[in-house]
Amino acid sequence: MPKIKLNGKEVEVAPGKTVLQACVDNGAFVPHYCWHPGLSPAGNCRMCLVKVSNSRKLEASCMYPCSDNLEVTTEGPEVAKGRQDVLEFMLINHPLDCPICDKAGECDLQDYTYAYRGGVSRFRDKKVIKHTKDLGPNVRIWGSRCIACTRCVRFCEEVAGTGELCLVNRGDHSVVDVFPTIPIDNPVSLNVVDLCPVGALIDRNFLYQARVWFARETESVCASCARGCNVKITALDNRIKRMVPRVNADVNTWWMCDEGRLNTRYLADDRRLTASKGSARDLDAAARKGNFGIVLSTYQTIEEMWLVKRLAEAWKAPVGFLTLTRGERKKFGGLVIEPDKTPNRRFAEKLFGELKPVPAGCKGLFVLNGIPELEGPPELMAAANGAEFLAVSDLRKGPLVEKAQVVLPACAWAEKDGTFMNVDGRVQRIRKAIEPPAAVRAEVAWLQEALGTEPLSAEGVFLQAAKEVPALAGLDYGKLGNQGAASNGH
Ligand code: SF4
Ligand code: SF4
Repeated sequence: MPKIKLNGKEVEVAPGKTVLQACVDNGAFVPHYCWHPGLSPAGNCRMCLVKVSNSRKLEASCMYPCSDNLEVTTEGPEVAKGRQDVLEFMLINHPLDCPICDKAGECDLQDYTYAYRGGVSRFRDKKVIKHTKDLGPNVRIWGSRCIACTRCVRFCEEVAGTGELCLVNRGDHSVVDVFPTIPIDNPVSLNVVDLCPVGALIDRNFLYQARVWFARETESVCASCARGCNVKITALDNRIKRMVPRVNADVNTWWMCDEGRLNTRYLADDRRLTASKGSARDLDAAARKGNFGIVLSTYQTIEEMWLVKRLAEAWKAPVGFLTLTRGERKKFGGLVIEPDKTPNRRFAEKLFGELKPVPAGCKGLFVLNGIPELEGPPELMAAANGAEFLAVSDLRKGPLVEKAQVVLPACAWAEKDGTFMNVDGRVQRIRKAIEPPAAVRAEVAWLQEALGTEPLSAEGVFLQAAKEVPALAGLDYGKLGNQGAASNGH
């Protein structure tokens, strides 16, 4: 292992690492635009300049290899002057768009300009104006804001594997574009918006939706497939405005897919169920008459499944399952999109064993659906048509809800606290990012009412479950933290 001196302190560096990686690993701040840990280094923004002992000029640390006894200095007047000059060069053609740019508030160019520049431009000529246009169904470019770092181009080549983006023209006319008639339209295309260090690439769905400093951010997990990508939910005025990935090396690395990112519109659907009919106690009274069945979807949280298991035991009711599978497994770098489009099937299998189909021939039926795109599959409709009593919990109005004597509107995953177990057996927390519609109560509340037990929060229910379910032994919300934890046996 080579040893280098970083700002006067000796540190060991893994063989093959660059100076920038050594700085990042050892907590030495170096500003950068084009370098990203999930992409190959390119060395084209020059913002990561540092002083190294075996060169007379400043060097771009993202391309400079560590060698034994190398002395690296990341601060000081010479380094600051180098970075100032790089910024001055970048800002020559950059428009003063911050007041109308969606990246404002989380833009590296703003932050580094604030840190290194004096706020005065020496540029007196005309700026070069570049194209503003849609590059694909979800991505638009403001070319004049582009600093030609090529992160987006490398992502499309190295991670998406589709290569739709390229840098066209020379010198200060360089700008990102697509080939004529071939838009950027791949399952992970919106990651280029997160990667863009400035506001050149914009998510068309988020355009002018929120100033980020007014919005609320909540750390959660995507529920649109069994992968459970770690996400941050941005909400304003109780509406989800966007989701962006959080880094988790064990789940999704730096990325998430477009389908998961955009699958939030059903929350504000006109058909959303907002009023209940009957109560959880009515449901319990009907179930205790016997010959009762439960249908549970694998969209429900660990806490909800645990309470349903206890109800099933109390009512001596068989439990059948609703699941949803679509497409094939697709891999994009460190991200795998799963064909199982529900977030908690793995836990259902741990708790109930092999998942049984919808029970047929019961006199009464209780259906907990909550899968946004699933409404009354034929086997469920047949079982419901044959039942005398029907209780339904779901997100939206539909044929089952019309028939039901008891209706308990469901909270969507972003409106409640809880946990899911992903396809690899990792238990991860979801957090309430927005309030549910006024009359909608969290499932854990009315499931406990049906059970007739003391009302506990989702965290309290999880603690109870962890005492009895071997896969959850030793886990609690504190241990799960923001990155989740492997369940027992994984
Ligand atoms: S569009 Fe953004 S990510 Fe792509 S090269 Fe320009 S600045 Fe970099
Ligand atoms: S891969 Fe799955 S969990 Fe990840 S963002 Fe896409 S749908 Fe959501």
